[in-house]
Amino acid sequence: SASVLTSPWRKDFPTLQTQVYDKSLVYLDSAATAQTPTAVIERMNQFYHHEYASVHRGVHKLSANATENLEFVRSKVADFIGASAAYRQHSPESSATKGLIFTKGTTEAINLVANSYLAHNVQAGDEIIITEMEHHANIVPWQMLAERLGLIIKVWRLNAQHELDEQALQQLITQRTKLLAITHVSNVLGTVNPIKSFIEIAHQADVAVLVDGAQAVMHQRIDVHELDCDFYVFSAHKLYGPTGVGALYVKPNRLSQMQPWEGGGAMIEQVRLPTGTGFTQAPWCFEAGTPNIAGILGFGAAIDYLTSIGLVEIEKHESSLMRSLLKGLQDIDGIEIYGSSSLPTIGVVSFNLNGLHAFDVGAFLDRYGIAIRTGHLCAMPLLKTLGQSSVCRVSLGLYTDQHDVDQLIEGLCRIQGLFGERK
Ligand code: PMP
Repeated sequence: SASVLTSPWRKDFPTLQTQVYDKSLVYLDSAATAQTPTAVIERMNQFYHHEYASVHRGVHKLSANATENLEFVRSKVADFIGASAAYRQHSPESSATKGLIFTKGTTEAINLVANSYLAHNVQAGDEIIITEMEHHANIVPWQMLAERLGLIIKVWRLNAQHELDEQALQQLITQRTKLLAITHVSNVLGTVNPIKSFIEIAHQADVAVLVDGAQAVMHQRIDVHELDCDFYVFSAHKLYGPTGVGALYVKPNRLSQMQPWEGGGAMIEQVRLPTGTGFTQAPWCFEAGTPNIAGILGFGAAIDYLTSIGLVEIEKHESSLMRSLLKGLQDIDGIEIYGSSSLPTIGVVSFNLNGLHAFDVGAFLDRYGIAIRTGHLCAMPLLKTLGQSSVCRVSLGLYTDQHDVDQLIEGLCRIQGLFGERK
């Protein structure tokens, strides 16, 4: 119904009022970065206006407050993804904040796991499994580590339905497999991978699993305890928070297998010359240097915002919009939509119009005030499998409504019309 497809939360996002070429902005690029609500912007403003100070070092009041506020966000993020339950089960006294490390985003979190965890738990000749569906952020750090340590990268290919199937995983795992790195939701296809069963298979063979949640956390409730993943990573800017901040969740039993990666201030217990420095405990030993304090506070405000709406409500809104979007796209002549038809799709859809380069489609839509993403989407291997060098990607957020979808479909039909007449 019309009321369901109008977003009651749209008004919370000031950038959505922006005019582009005298047209109202139709923002369909939330998977690249989601718009920020006023509550998040205000929280960061508040910090810079009234609370600004560094953390962890000062005895003075502002510093103590900033530290307390930052650490409070840590527990909020841990609760948001169900980490607290995992830690409670591990030991009643242990707190999930130990295993919740702030990073600058998904990319840094994956690099951290490569260098802090995997590098210390492998020998030359050991194997890492990555999938053909990964974002470059979940490919390149493993390749760099493999190059350095003589590890072998094995690729879990998609089947003919463009899905990852369990049998292929079973066949790839050997005695030497040490890690599976897999995306929860594809940033190109929107496919929601059935990662819980993949994790079970990996664990049966004693393989640790890193889940890239960059495209998952804003669309559905994540429970790392239930998933039983070893590492879960995501970025704040895709869940309506600021850029430059993200999180890494580490399962309790993996923490003791990790060594600090970056060295510097805030991560030490004591420093001696010329050697003999000792590190502090998790999570701080993985957070060298002054953190992005305002960003972390904004991250917390984004989680408060999402929690106040409720992820179930968001999922309901987005899934009805997605149905409408897919139906609209399927009705366009000469469109090719990529991805699985049997697995659920969340937030994202990619396509090409017959005979038109994705870049041209994107450039025309831009002139109509419609923002989409085009190109290889940081997933060159997946695009190669799709037989494409570039695609158009449309992605939804909680503020997207039927009007946005209608404008897109109308725009695409206009582009088809323009080029159709010339043929
Ligand atoms: N993984 C996936 C699936 C993504 O979509 C993205 C962002 N496009 C990343 C990783 C990298 O995130 P960031 O650039 O915020 O580090």
